[in-house]
Amino acid sequence: MSIDDSIHDVETIPIRVGIIGYPVGHSLSPKMHTAAFRALGLNWEYSLLPVAPEEMQDAIEMIRREVWRGLNVTVPHKQAVILLLDFITPQAEIIGAVNSIVNQNGRLVGYNTDWIGFLEALREAGFDPANRRAVVLGAGGAARAVVYALLEQGETVTIANRNQRKAEALALEFATQFDREIAVLSLDDSAGLQSAINNAELLVNCTSVGMSPYPNGDPLPPEIVLPPHLTVYDLVYNPRETQLLKRTRAAGATGIDGLGMLVHQGAEAFRLWTGLDAPIEVMRQAIE
Ligand code: NAP
Repeated sequence: MSIDDSIHDVETIPIRVGIIGYPVGHSLSPKMHTAAFRALGLNWEYSLLPVAPEEMQDAIEMIRREVWRGLNVTVPHKQAVILLLDFITPQAEIIGAVNSIVNQNGRLVGYNTDWIGFLEALREAGFDPANRRAVVLGAGGAARAVVYALLEQGETVTIANRNQRKAEALALEFATQFDREIAVLSLDDSAGLQSAINNAELLVNCTSVGMSPYPNGDPLPPEIVLPPHLTVYDLVYNPRETQLLKRTRAAGATGIDGLGMLVHQGAEAFRLWTGLDAPIEVMRQAIE
């Protein structure tokens, strides 16, 4: 093979990235990133990697060896993958989850871009998150990224979860980290929830209630009244217009759907891999 041929080969071999999860077939990330690569004329390829938990170690070593540029990580690997990486950012460490990996010449670095995506989506929708009061519904992985983002912005946070003990554990951990008080409620405590919501500017649904295939679910008890001054951010993006958002708009309050966070967390991963600003609108249109 001549030198010219080998250079040509290098140029035509796509740079590989992908999403690792189990399952991953439902993911919108391939569409979003492939559209972005095409829009910027990049010869990059985005693959689906359905990998069971017991096969994770081998899969991550393959990524390291075969010079993939990076990965998105989804359920159920966001926590477990941490032990397989060489370094994680302080934010990912506090949140306790990695959703994006960058391969720096065989050194795998873990990031959490969910919290950045959430803040960008709020700002894009016209809500300045700095120093406000928020009620967060849920205490799972997504809630951890959202609570981190809100505390980082100086917000006062109340966490309401079905399993109150889980919310208490989360609140204790973050209160220590940020040296702040975090109130906790059970989702059944309607009076406490109503009072917290009346005193808040922002309500964020980080539960999976309302998500397909159960789109009629609503995380809030029916007796809760949403005040018109409230902004409600629902992380659920399938369906986009959830029961909670319908209820929000009927009450004259402001509702924001979860698609913006999905786009912006992806845009941040794109930036980490390529060093380029992501074509946000192209990515959004690809999955709308
Ligand atoms: P997770 O770790 O499994 O947490 C699920 C949360 O939902 C827990 O707080 C759980 O409460 C609560 N929950 C589940 N079923 C419930 C029910 N029937 N009634 C009341 N609460 C219930 O899931 P996750 O990763 O945090 O994801 C949560 C949601 O966020 C999902 O819909 C996901 O698609 C969405 N999400 C969106 C984005 C985005 O970019 N827009 C990013 C990440 C996640 P218990 O603790 O009591 O079980």
